[in-house]
Amino acid sequence: MRGRKKLIKDLARQRARILLNEAFNAVKRGEYPLARRYVSLGLKLLRKAGARKPLPYRRMVCKKCLIPLIPGLTCRVRVRRNRKYIIVTKTCLACGWVRRIPCPRKPENLEK
Ligand SMILES: [Zn+2]
Repeated sequence: MRGRKKLIKDLARQRARILLNEAFNAVKRGEYPLARRYVSLGLKLLRKAGARKPLPYRRMVCKKCLIPLIPGLTCRVRVRRNRKYIIVTKTCLACGWVRRIPCPRKPENLEK
């Protein structure tokens, strides 16, 4: 039973990855509604299987409108720095959703 569950999760993750790939292709063709459909289909699959979202879903998809984020096309990426962090801001150009990803600087990169 457990082995079967794991198999379903693996399958879901695999198919979700393929769907995301298709979604990216759709965005590149300018077919945004189709791209969103692929993404929501992939997310539904993962939810059904009880699988964790693969990293690309967490990093490269707009949480609000489910569009795949491609820098220069569907999102704007800005990098800000302060002493402790490098902050990457991603703005979704379709709905205006902003995501900030702070990355702590490595100690050896810190200026005095
Ligand atoms: Zn969005």
